[in-house]
Amino acid sequence: MTRDIIIIIIIIIIIIIIIIIIIKDLKAETESEIVAAQDQAIQTKYYATKILNTETDSKCRLCQQFDETIDHIISACPVLAKKKYIKRHDSVCTTTLQHM
Ligand SMILES: [Zn+2]
Repeated sequence: MTRDIIIIIIIIIIIIIIIIIIIKDLKAETESEIVAAQDQAIQTKYYATKILNTETDSKCRLCQQFDETIDHIISACPVLAKKKYIKRHDSVCTTTLQHM
């Protein structure tokens, strides 16, 4: 039991170190936007409708088909899928290739 707890603590420390290494080069604004996105706290229409109660329509501003959530904007909007997701994919590939 105690051994399992020690292993879990070590794993958590390793994860924290990896996160610190990854984010140390980020600007503070970029880091805060990433954390907000992870916490689903970015001002999407879904957030404004369900959490803030400041809007009544939670549908995506671009496709008008699905709720405008972080997940939808990042990877599921049919309007963004036509060009933006491909452009993002190609950009990641280019950056990865440049750092190899
Ligand atoms: Zn959409």
